[in-house]
Amino acid sequence: MTERVPFLDLHGPYAELKEEMDDAIARVLSSGWFLLGDEIAQFEAEFASYVGASHCIGVANGLDALTLALRAVGVGAGDEVIVPSNTFIASWLAVTYAGATPVPVEPDVATYNMNPALIEAAITPRTRAIMPVHLYGQPADMLAIRDIAKRRGIHVLEDAAQAHGARSDGRRVGNVGTAAWSFYPGKNLGALGDGGAVTTDDAGIAERLRKLRNYGSSKKYVHEVAGVNSRLDELQAAVLRVKLRHLDEWNARRVGIAARYTRELPGDELVLPMVPPFANPSWHLYVVRTTSRAWVQAQLTASGVDSLVHYPLSPHLQGAYSGLGYSKGSFPIAEALQEEVMSLPIGPHMTETQISRVIASVSSVVSHTDTR
Ligand SMILES: *Cc1c(COP(=O)(O)O)cnc(C)c1O
Repeated sequence: MTERVPFLDLHGPYAELKEEMDDAIARVLSSGWFLLGDEIAQFEAEFASYVGASHCIGVANGLDALTLALRAVGVGAGDEVIVPSNTFIASWLAVTYAGATPVPVEPDVATYNMNPALIEAAITPRTRAIMPVHLYGQPADMLAIRDIAKRRGIHVLEDAAQAHGARSDGRRVGNVGTAAWSFYPGKNLGALGDGGAVTTDDAGIAERLRKLRNYGSSKKYVHEVAGVNSRLDELQAAVLRVKLRHLDEWNARRVGIAARYTRELPGDELVLPMVPPFANPSWHLYVVRTTSRAWVQAQLTASGVDSLVHYPLSPHLQGAYSGLGYSKGSFPIAEALQEEVMSLPIGPHMTETQISRVIASVSSVVSHTDTR
C-alpha cells in the first residue's frame, strides 16, 4: 500500500536541520539559563530585523501576543475592536481577554479576508482598534485598512499568526505598525511547543509589552502594572533562531507547491485561492472550496490524502460567544465559507511524489462529484 499523504509533516524540519537544532538545544542546556537570557534577546533582534520592525517582544504563545498587544496599545474595558467574522477564534478571544468586545466584519468572498469596504460601518465611538487577520497566509488589504484607521484615529493590530514572511505591496507583513505572531509548531515558523511574539515600530508599545509579559515589572520585585507571566523560553528561542534562517527557503517551497496546485487542479470544479495583485502569500494553508465537501473529503481520505477544515464553525456561532447575541444568519459570508472550505496538504517538506498524488487524487475525486 502506498503511504498516506499527511496533512502536516512536523518531523521534516528536524530531519533537515538535526545538527543545527541539536547544537542550539545543547547550547541552552549547558548555559544553565532558561528564561529571559541571550537566546531570546538574539531571537528578538533577528526576528525584528526579518520583519523590518524596530522591536520584537517574545511571549508564550500567539493568543498572548494578541492580548498583550491590545493591552499595550491601550485597549481595555468598554472598548470595541473590529475583527473578521471569518477567523480562528483566538483573534476574538484576545479582544475578550483584553476586556473589550469583538465587533465582526464580513470577509471579501474572493479573498476570505476582512473586506475594507465594510469597516467604516462597524466603527462606533467605542472603537479603539482594527485587527486584520492574514488568513491562511494571504495578506489582508493593509493599505486600505491603514487608511481607514488613520482617518478615524484608531489603532491597527495585525494578527500575523499565519503570515510569517508574507508580503503586502512588496513589504513584509508586520513591517508597519504592530503585529502579533504565533510560533505554534504547525505555523510557517514553528517552535517545539508554544511560542509567540509582538513586533512594533513604537518604542512605548514595546516597553509596555516587556513589562506586561513579565509580571508588569521592569525591575525585579517592582510591579508597575498588573502584568502576566508570558515569556518565550530560551530553548524555544534557540530553536526558532535556527529555523528563522531557513524560513524564506521553506516559504519559497510552499510558493512552488501552491503554484503547481493552482496550475494543475481543476479550477472549474473547485474554487481555488484568489491572490490579489498586491499580495505575496506565505501559503500557510492552501484552501479550496467545494459545495460537496463532506463527500470530497471522504473520497480523499479513502485515497490516502489527508485534508482539514479551517474553520468549521465561525466564532459568532461558538458557545464561547453565545453572550453576544448572534445567531445563524448574522454573518452569512463567514457561514457560507465554513460549509465549503477545505485545506489540502502543503508544507516545505512535501515530496514531488506527494504533491503529484494530491493533485491526481483531488482531480479524480472532483471529476466524479456529479455521479456520486
Ligand atoms: C495560531 C493562531 C493564533 C493563536 O496562536 P497560538 O500560538 O496557538 O496561541 C491566533 N490567530 C490565528 C489566525 C492563528 O492561526
